[in-house]
Amino acid sequence: MVRRPPPPPPLRGLESVSLTAWEGRVAAVLQLQGCNFKCPACVVPHLVPQVFEGGTIPLESALDTLYRRRRWLDGVVIAGGEPTLHEGLRDLVRVVRELGLRVRLHTNGSNPDALRAVVESGEVSSVAMTIRAPLDPTYAVAVGARVRLAAVYESVEILLRAPGEHEFRVPWLPQVVETEQMVSVIRMLAGARRVVLEPAPDGSPGRRALQQVGRTAGAYVDSCVLAGRPAQDFGARGRSRSVPS
Ligand code: SF4
Repeated sequence: MVRRPPPPPPLRGLESVSLTAWEGRVAAVLQLQGCNFKCPACVVPHLVPQVFEGGTIPLESALDTLYRRRRWLDGVVIAGGEPTLHEGLRDLVRVVRELGLRVRLHTNGSNPDALRAVVESGEVSSVAMTIRAPLDPTYAVAVGARVRLAAVYESVEILLRAPGEHEFRVPWLPQVVETEQMVSVIRMLAGARRVVLEPAPDGSPGRRALQQVGRTAGAYVDSCVLAGRPAQDFGARGRSRSVPS
């Protein structure tokens, strides 16, 4: 029996130019509908429901836009929601690559099997994974859902072992995660090539507290920067060094 290809992932949004989704690069962003978490601090709550009654963007139209702009783009970020929920993710990566564009994947790390498949395909140039708490019962509070902690840990391991570019994004929700827990999250990422500490959407807990975490735990990873402040690197590579921007 011939296996039918999986349907394309539901595409809810296309940001044709972003300077922040893939730092240092000009990227378009494909936003997929549906997430298995319900983070209280989610900045894209409209992408969380699995189904959106208002319909989705036809893939052909999004690919056409990317094709026309390919000369001005360094790559495409596939984000969500949670892209690894969709069986058609690998095919989506492949068709974007066929346009001659590099791909970065954003993930919450809850689906290591899908993440491994995409990473091992060699078609993704970069993966950004968000980690919201230490791997203990705090995690479920930080993501507003039941979560298989072993799966998140496995995803961390996959990225640490894989060659190529990765970035662990660590948003801090101070109402849920204490300073010492933030430090322990970064220690868990020991050996990571890049960690980005992010404040909560309301700006808390403030830059000083983030710097303190970076100073305390940054040496465990190669590079540890504050979101929007890449010139200050607390990681082993740039420890105590402010790089001119
Ligand atoms: S993982 Fe991302 S998209 Fe999903 S609820 Fe959390 S912040 Fe929102």
